[in-house]
Amino acid sequence: MSIVYLNGQYMAMEDAKISPLDRGFLFGDGIYEVIPSYAGKMVGFTPHIKRMQDGLAEVGINLDYSTQKWQHICQSLAEKNGNQSLGIYLHVTRGADTRRLHAYPKDVEPTVFAMAFDIPTPPKPDRFTKQGFALISTEDLRWQRCHIKSTALLGNVMHYQQGHEAGCNETLLYNQKAELTEASSSNVFVIKDGVIITPPLDNQLLPGITRKLILDIIKAHSSFELQERIVTIQEARQADEIWISSSSKEIAPVISLDGKPVGDGKVGEIWQQVASLYSEHKFDY
Ligand code: PMP
Repeated sequence: MSIVYLNGQYMAMEDAKISPLDRGFLFGDGIYEVIPSYAGKMVGFTPHIKRMQDGLAEVGINLDYSTQKWQHICQSLAEKNGNQSLGIYLHVTRGADTRRLHAYPKDVEPTVFAMAFDIPTPPKPDRFTKQGFALISTEDLRWQRCHIKSTALLGNVMHYQQGHEAGCNETLLYNQKAELTEASSSNVFVIKDGVIITPPLDNQLLPGITRKLILDIIKAHSSFELQERIVTIQEARQADEIWISSSSKEIAPVISLDGKPVGDGKVGEIWQQVASLYSEHKFDY
């Protein structure tokens, strides 16, 4: 039985109830976060909470939870749910009004929900050595505020489903200028001639915490050249390696794109090295 947090209380999942007038339910009017926790140790807690607080501020949801309070909730959920490999999911909506109206209501308490779900045990760099990910690519048809980790995920869900229906693990997205943005639930890295390239942060992609940790770890612990720059889908098709990253999958190597092999169609050498570095240093941040 899983134990969740709702508005100050811990309870069984089946006892957690919200109003149908909650704006998260009606409009997807909320911000969420997923923090990986392995045996009670979280990865990137501080940047995850900062991203959530930035998102809440950007959409004008006023919630007076301190970082310490969030830490307590995350740790309690990990303990109450068995401390294995967990994604700690935090979800804050603008709250439940008395009627359905687009304008932000005044004097409504935000709804705060949190739960833990199982994620794979710390992916070891050899976990994907035999089997990498297959991706399709398509034009990014989401909105222009993809830097906000909004609970309104229908655009992402529809893109993810395109890949899923094609028998793939993820859908790689590019804008109208054929520049890569990210994937439907991951950031992207393209590797060419030993250089590790990832699209720069802007409104077209989520500032992924795994992306940030990968960049910080590469800078601190390797001599690979890194470039945060525009990278096109054509470049991705010529790449030696492609990786996608997210909190629950860490760094995953991509071995095929639109049915064609990436590089030699095998899991890449540089991925092996960077995934090992990530495993070693991910708890330092
Ligand atoms: N981009 C999108 C659209 C995402 O949903 C996610 C998270 N699943 C990511 C990137 C990766 O972010 P993070 O590394 O913070 O999990």
